[in-house]
Amino acid sequence: MDRRQFCRSALAGSLTAAIPGLTGWYTSAIAATEADTSIPAVSLDGKEIELERAAIRELGERLTGPVLLSGHPQYDAARVVWNGMHDKRPALIARCLTDDDVRHAVTFAHERRLLTAVRGGGHSWPGKSVCDRGLMIDLSQMNAVTIDPAARRATVRGGALLSMLDNQALQHGLATTTGVISHTGVGGYTLGGGYGRLNRKHGLTVDNLLGARIVTADGRLRRVSAEEEPELFWAIRGGGGNFGVVTEFDYRLHPFDRKALCGSLVWPLAQAKDVLEFYAEWAPRLSDEMYAGPLLLRHPEAGDVVVMDVLYVGDPAAGEKELAPLRRIGKPAADAVVVQDYMIVQTENDGVFHPGVRSYAKNLLVKEWSQKLVDALVGAYDPRVLLANHVAGGAVKRVGELATAFPHRQAEIMFVVVTVWEDKAKDDEMIAATRAYYDALKPFMGGYYDNIEFDRKEGNETYGPALPRLSRIKRTFDPDNLFRLNSNIQPA
Ligand SMILES: Cc1cc2nc3c(=O)[nH]c(=O)nc-3n(C[C@H](O)[C@H](O)[C@H](O)COP(=O)(O)OP(=O)(O)OC[C@H]3O[C@@H](n4cnc5c(N)ncnc54)[C@H](O)[C@@H]3O)c2cc1C
Repeated sequence: MDRRQFCRSALAGSLTAAIPGLTGWYTSAIAATEADTSIPAVSLDGKEIELERAAIRELGERLTGPVLLSGHPQYDAARVVWNGMHDKRPALIARCLTDDDVRHAVTFAHERRLLTAVRGGGHSWPGKSVCDRGLMIDLSQMNAVTIDPAARRATVRGGALLSMLDNQALQHGLATTTGVISHTGVGGYTLGGGYGRLNRKHGLTVDNLLGARIVTADGRLRRVSAEEEPELFWAIRGGGGNFGVVTEFDYRLHPFDRKALCGSLVWPLAQAKDVLEFYAEWAPRLSDEMYAGPLLLRHPEAGDVVVMDVLYVGDPAAGEKELAPLRRIGKPAADAVVVQDYMIVQTENDGVFHPGVRSYAKNLLVKEWSQKLVDALVGAYDPRVLLANHVAGGAVKRVGELATAFPHRQAEIMFVVVTVWEDKAKDDEMIAATRAYYDALKPFMGGYYDNIEFDRKEGNETYGPALPRLSRIKRTFDPDNLFRLNSNIQPA
């Protein structure tokens, strides 16, 4: 069985397909004239406010990108985010093209205490990048990627997608940690931590962030790095979108041969216990180069299966050797771990998670394997729910708990319980099924990754021991909590 078949039944789609007709459309500022001199909006604390059309027009004149109001032909496409569960209508959308555009949009919102959402790639599960009757700062057109091969550095605009970073870097034989669905945005992904198949070797994406440009609530554009505004730099490496709008990220790149040993091993679900019991012993002893994580799922043709997602970062022959004991477990129904282009595995599930699908997700970080965990994973399996994972350990674990604002370093693996469906009528059923599987796994929870969660948790659970310092930094840079549509940190 070809692993690519996993995507066969899924609808094809890409972000550009979901948002037709936007490229190259910059000029028109404000929708057709209406008699009203103001439009209704909502403040940061939920109060009804009015936005004067003259002020909006002035904003439109300052921006090089368009300002879209309801009724504009591009408005409905621009407010679409990845998860089809969310259907919100901002009062206005500032489609930014430059750092100055972002500064003007932030200042406009700050002066009016206007509810503000920041859209990077739009993949927030709970739909935090769009809002009703507020301002949506849309970075989707700020997506350029520049590679400096000599310095092994990527400069990436705040609205780029992971595929853009991967594709550009790989052309130079370089890569950094990026997530497993290529139409995810670099923005929210990086600011929240950033797990991906290279993280055991090279750390989380925040561990590869060298610097950034950020517009803070006061409308100032700041450069942050280990040397410049180091507190703010620390905060954005895990503190989410709480501190401003990041217009540009600088990443460290690593030499990487895109022809890598990667792909899937597949067994019938009946062998799941054997596979997972072996994995529980084997995985904690693996080299940093080996990334191997188990999934349980119902495949449209193969039925219920356990799948091992594998990538070896290095000489394929060494990878084959390290993988050999796993291949001897049970009787795999398919073995598609071969030397192939890394982007095949990086994009092969893009279709299943296509933009516009309805989706609900929860996760837990696990510090230690046990027989009870294996029993729960298999015993609570529900074919409607995909049990996915992000393998951690390795370089992720060697970074100090408070070296960045992402403190959940001690986990071996993250389990993600996730459902995707098309029909709104199934919302309650799918959410209940996901929660039931999650509840069975919750006793094994040793941490939590906020980026992959529909129901947001309290700040303490998300930020743990990093929270007090984050709250102080929030007070300095965003005392009014303008940037609150995220996993929010209250100013101290
Ligand atoms: C299908 C799918 C696959 C995923 N796979 C992975 C994975 O492999 N690894 C992983 O670690 N995570 C993964 N995630 C989680 C992902 O990291 C988060 O959903 C992340 O928030 C997405 O970032 P975004 O820019 O696309 O989202 P958005 O919805 O645009 O933004 C999410 C949050 O970040 C803020 N934000 C976005 N861009 C900026 C910016 N430039 N400046 C300031 N704030 C900003 C927004 O305001 C919002 O609060 C996945 C999510 C999905 C839906």
